[in-house]
Amino acid sequence: MTVEGTLMKRRTFCASAIPALAIASAPWQRLFAATGGAGEVPAIGTAGQQLVLQPSQLAELRGALRGQLLLPGQDGYDAARRVWNGAFDRKPALIVRCLGAADVVQAVEFARNNALLVAVRGGGHSLSGQSVCEGGMMIDLSPMKAIRVDPLARTARLEPGVLLGQFDREAQAFGLATTAGTVSHTGAAGLTLGGGFGRIGRKFALACDNLLGADVVTAGGRFLKAGARDNPDLLWGLRGGGGNFGVVTSFEYRLHAVDPMMHGGPLVLPFAGARALLRSFADFIAGASDDLYVDAAIVPTPDGQRVIAFDVCHSGPAPAAERDLAQLRKLGQPLQDGLRPRTYVDIQRAGDDNYPAGRSYYIKSGFMRAITPRMIDAVVDYLESTPLPTGIVGFSHMGGAISRVKPGATAFWHREAQHSLMMIGFWDEAGSAERAMQWVRGGWKGFEPLTDGFYVNEMSYDEADRRIRGNYGGNYPRLAALKKQYDPTNLFRLNANIKPGA
Ligand SMILES: Cc1cc2nc3c(=O)[nH]c(=O)nc-3n(C[C@H](O)[C@H](O)[C@H](O)COP(=O)(O)OP(=O)(O)OC[C@H]3O[C@@H](n4cnc5c(N)ncnc54)[C@H](O)[C@@H]3O)c2cc1C
Repeated sequence: MTVEGTLMKRRTFCASAIPALAIASAPWQRLFAATGGAGEVPAIGTAGQQLVLQPSQLAELRGALRGQLLLPGQDGYDAARRVWNGAFDRKPALIVRCLGAADVVQAVEFARNNALLVAVRGGGHSLSGQSVCEGGMMIDLSPMKAIRVDPLARTARLEPGVLLGQFDREAQAFGLATTAGTVSHTGAAGLTLGGGFGRIGRKFALACDNLLGADVVTAGGRFLKAGARDNPDLLWGLRGGGGNFGVVTSFEYRLHAVDPMMHGGPLVLPFAGARALLRSFADFIAGASDDLYVDAAIVPTPDGQRVIAFDVCHSGPAPAAERDLAQLRKLGQPLQDGLRPRTYVDIQRAGDDNYPAGRSYYIKSGFMRAITPRMIDAVVDYLESTPLPTGIVGFSHMGGAISRVKPGATAFWHREAQHSLMMIGFWDEAGSAERAMQWVRGGWKGFEPLTDGFYVNEMSYDEADRRIRGNYGGNYPRLAALKKQYDPTNLFRLNANIKPGA
């Protein structure tokens, strides 16, 4: 059964196209002066065309919303356009701060009727900055923050502005949880739509594997349910296909019984001897139980050193945890040993401060079936040969239950991956951007051939279209057909984009 909502109050809201000659050489920001109309708002369309939104259209849209319509210069506009990655200082023509599905329908209809460029923002943590756009419409879902846990059914319903830490906290109050990422200020929405791995993912698979259903506003402004009975093909696409198929206004997850007390924390060792240490770690982690999750990262310290930092979470019984942690401790003499019994919620938020909002980041990532000696040599050689930049090389842990799901069972293709290798460059001063990005690119040239595909949620902002397409693997034809069905004009294109196909 297809559930078509009654939220479809169609409006026209059409922007006038500006005569091409009049704007041929004018940047869109100067259009207001060029066109001169009081209250007119210059904007950018899906194909990069320049548009002018009329005051009457904007007033009509504002009147149709329960949430806010924010235009440049208005109170709250600058705060709303900011996203986690400070590398993006983009100014949308308008921001619709949605309070519910009805607002989302209005926003999508307005964008479609005006062929406006659209960015969709959940938690705002897009590494590639695609949840904010220059000159288009930002559909801001961050005010939608409701969470409802059903402890008897072991399910949770989330609105799309919920952050992972809020979700963990609410579910853990009932001794429940589902897979979420490792930094608690990340949004559940984008994380789930792209896949979503984290500290209990080896036990319970990806966040998207635990997605039971969703409410979606499609590019046509239709409100649809996606689930096992309603539009199961759409649910399949939402599980790893990113924001390609519409705006999700509600997510329903399966929860699992998860003991709030676990073992884990940081274990930090010196970089000296990294080659041997990482080889021993690779051997150890290849045989790890599903209860054990360890991220390994080579990070710079404030005093200009490099260290190897393990981020550990053991969700199994205490004796097994103590045994596994003892093995890890044998890797070397630690500079810091923070391994101890902790609550899951504490472990989930312990690393939050390492990734502050507003700093600028550039990332490259790729999947690996194992941490091989060749990869370890490539990483250590590169780090030893480059000056210490503000950058991290890390191996995120996957595998376990994630790999036991078939590649075609959801849109998330790369099930064989046991780790995701990440290189992150970061900077606080604009003048340091080039250096940090060159450091990442320089290393990545050597590392990429040793990887196989990459995580769409860790896509860099200069990822080639060909690589994005290839990354969906054998699922691409089905995804392209779904895209044609639900978004034939590619309204939702600011993502790891799937082109509407046959
Ligand atoms: C510090 C940090 C730590 C991270 N750690 C992990 C981790 O441990 N595991 C992991 O799997 N990933 C991790 N990620 C990657 C993370 O999954 C992505 O950045 C993800 O996109 C964040 O979701 P968001 O809602 O916060 O992002 P947003 O920037 O709001 O959205 C990202 C994209 O998702 C789409 N989108 C968002 N909401 C909706 C919606 N409701 N409907 C339709 N489309 C939507 C849009 O295309 C948007 O461009 C991390 C990222 C950061 C910055």
